[in-house]
Formats: sequence, C-alpha cells, structure tokens
Amino acid sequence: MIYRIRAHHGMCFSFFKGKGYSGEFTENMWAMKEKLQKDPQVILLKETDDVCVRCPNNQGGKSTCLEKAKRYDRQVLAYCGLEAGVEMRWKDFEKLVRENILDVGRREEICGDCEWSGLCRD
Ligand code: SF4
Repeated sequence: MIYRIRAHHGMCFSFFKGKGYSGEFTENMWAMKEKLQKDPQVILLKETDDVCVRCPNNQGGKSTCLEKAKRYDRQVLAYCGLEAGVEMRWKDFEKLVRENILDVGRREEICGDCEWSGLCRD
C-alpha cells in the first residue's frame, strides 16, 4: 500500500491534535496519522491526496484552498530537495521536513497565512 501525500501535509501531521475542517476530516487525519506511524511508502504530491479526499473544501477534486496549498507544497518540496512524484518511506520524509523546515524555523515563512497557523506553533 502506498499512500498519496501532498508535500505540505508533512508539516501538518507534526502539529495535528484533533482540530480540522469537519468531523469526517479529523477522523481521517487521525486514521492517516496512525497508518503513517507504521512508516509506509508514500508518494509526495502537489495536488489533492489521501487527506484532501475527506476535506469539505474539496468538492469533486476541486479545492477552495488549491492555489495556497500548492504554494506550500512547492516550498516544502524545494526545502527538502525533493520533486513531486518521488516515493519514499514516510519517516524519511518526516525527518527531512523536521530538519529542513520545522527545526530551523521556516514553517511560518511557508504557511503563515494558513487559517490554522495559530495552532501550529510549538
Ligand atoms: S499552518 Fe496550516 S499548512 Fe501549516 S502546518 Fe499548520 S495546518 Fe498545515
């Protein structure tokens, strides 16, 4: 099983504590978080993924946060030295995000205009 993960969700999972767009969305986030803790193979994307499918903003593949989310994806991929479409273990990706973005204080530079930004501080 390979999970489809858009790149900026590599940051979101680090901070997720149960808040989200809807009950269905947060349930899916918890379920995905549990699956990712088993370190599966993931494909990194800059488009809708296995998290977005349960988001109320995503209607039939069209998302109201598409452009902003794509910008976050592009920046995360660039800082991690990766390209969309690459496949790797989840924990290897998580480590790259931590070392290249979170631990060096780049999270707000990338997604400071996200509506959840206030929740995503250590
Ligand atoms: S601010 Fe938004 S995009 Fe950034 S990590 Fe938090 S939920 Fe994800």
